[in-house]
Amino acid sequence: MIIILARKTLRYLLPYRFLFLVAIAQVILLNALELLKPWPLKLIIDNVQVGGQPLPWEFLKGLSRETLLLIICIGLVLIYLLWGGLSVLHNYTTISIGQRMVNDLRGDLYSHLQRLSLAFHNRQQVGDLLYRIATDTYAIQSLTMNTAIPILSAVVFLVGMFVIMVQLDPLLTFLALSVCPALFITLSLLNRPINRAATQSHQQESVVYSLVQRNISAMRIIQAFTKEDEEHKKFMAASRESLAARLRLYNLQSLYSGAVSLVSAVGTALVVWVAANQVLAGDLTVGELVLFTSYLASLYDPINSISQTYGMTQWAQVGVMRVFEILDIERDLPEGTKTFPAVGARGEIVWDNVSFDYLPDQPTLKQINLRVRMGQKVAIVGPTGAGKSTLVSLLPRFYDPQVGRVTIDGIDVREFQLKSLRRQIGMVLQPPIVFPLSFRENIAYGRPDATLSEVVTAARLARIHDLIISTPQGYDTAVGERGATLSEGERQRLTIARAILLDAPILILDEPTSSVDAETEALIMEGLDRLTVGRTTLIIAHRLSTVRQADSIVVLRAGQIVEQGTFAELMSRRSEFAALYRTQFSLQGEK
Ligand code: ATP
Repeated sequence: MIIILARKTLRYLLPYRFLFLVAIAQVILLNALELLKPWPLKLIIDNVQVGGQPLPWEFLKGLSRETLLLIICIGLVLIYLLWGGLSVLHNYTTISIGQRMVNDLRGDLYSHLQRLSLAFHNRQQVGDLLYRIATDTYAIQSLTMNTAIPILSAVVFLVGMFVIMVQLDPLLTFLALSVCPALFITLSLLNRPINRAATQSHQQESVVYSLVQRNISAMRIIQAFTKEDEEHKKFMAASRESLAARLRLYNLQSLYSGAVSLVSAVGTALVVWVAANQVLAGDLTVGELVLFTSYLASLYDPINSISQTYGMTQWAQVGVMRVFEILDIERDLPEGTKTFPAVGARGEIVWDNVSFDYLPDQPTLKQINLRVRMGQKVAIVGPTGAGKSTLVSLLPRFYDPQVGRVTIDGIDVREFQLKSLRRQIGMVLQPPIVFPLSFRENIAYGRPDATLSEVVTAARLARIHDLIISTPQGYDTAVGERGATLSEGERQRLTIARAILLDAPILILDEPTSSVDAETEALIMEGLDRLTVGRTTLIIAHRLSTVRQADSIVVLRAGQIVEQGTFAELMSRRSEFAALYRTQFSLQGEK
């Protein structure tokens, strides 16, 4: 598990391998300087003070004590200066590698999410995905730069210290290093509970995100039903759970740091006791004792800091795993290879014995056989929940059927590249989605290269042009977040203009006029009539008045086609459609 995670993480480090090598070189230099730090003090104690041994270097012999002291002090300042400068550089290097890795991982995750099917997105909580993109991706930086580098640094320091110490006193060296196994045992004992706490903490935090996301999108309903207090209580309950999980994690981290400090203190005491006895017996100089104890402090420092960041490491590990969990999900809509010719599809569509279910054993569409000829206008009607939207959503492959196939111009839609396939289909979907962009950008969303005059023509056909030019900046006026500054009907017309501009050979119009008044509906239908000429068109309609002109009407009930024919044909017999039509007509008449 850890190895797989490491391999995947390393893939993101690979592009920055040269920078990483620079960071390693900096670590080695920094540790060499760290090892040098206690030497000036040792030299002063052992060699410069009265009665000390003369310094072993020829070129320093004959100098007065004061001069030697000055040279050693200048050396000390130089070591600290170099160390300080290098530390700053090293921080910059590691942060820049870490941040770039986060950026790459985030880009991959976002791109992958966009390619996962709607079936995946229906299952997933938006808030959880947001949390994974916004927060979990940072974990790759913590995992590599805040963990790998300190561990590497500790190892380099340990080796350097071992080489120096073993020459001075092998027994003391052994004693000092004997603390390491005890530290690692403590580390492994607390590993599992910390990991569990970190996972819970991530999950609870993402629950809070999901709740906020859901409630902000449903603010209108919450306020309409005055549910603010209840929703606040729910939020606080989730937030408290998250707090509890975090506190559990911090408690375990503190416990861990405490245990490490205790083990380090025992180790230091042991070394000082043995070393002091050796000094008293004349086997060790006071300077060497100082050197050993300061090395010990420097050794425990990185181990201590690893231990303190250990909880964070576990947190980071879980975060990175949550990101890879999504990246590992195979695209459930495998890409085909075929593309449509440049002139576009002819638009002959067939549902060939198609069955589909969103959830196992709950069929939404059952053995659908339907042929739509090139340029035909087909209306799909039926009671709510009959499967009308599902039927048309198989065409652009929002979902793939479990049984049967959908073909365009005789070829299974699964064989086409998704981009090429979807470029053939202009869609007006429910609910009408409008982006917080300008009117022009909204209409040209599917064809950003469209000229202004093309955009205006589409807007005129969709009966939205007059509204646009009445705004302060006309086509450059920005539409509010989620189209809030537009009415439902206006948003619908904007999405119709978007579909018109795409100029695709196949059109899917899901309730294209459901939110407009009768007069606007007539105007839009007139525009759509012009638009649909020569294009294969599928219209899902509740208002049966809009389907009179259709070449064929398909009546769907409980996932099955129960009737099919022209308006005149269906009205002339005692059909379900005729009954539905008469009911609607008489209801409208009553109004
Ligand atoms: P309406 O006229 O109300 O828009 P419809 O005829 O277009 O309805 P669909 O939206 O296709 O019906 O839904 C058909 C059935 O599939 C319904 O029972 C619905 O609850 C179910 N359904 C739709 N989308 C999903 C989904 N993403 N996951 C699970 N079930 C779904």
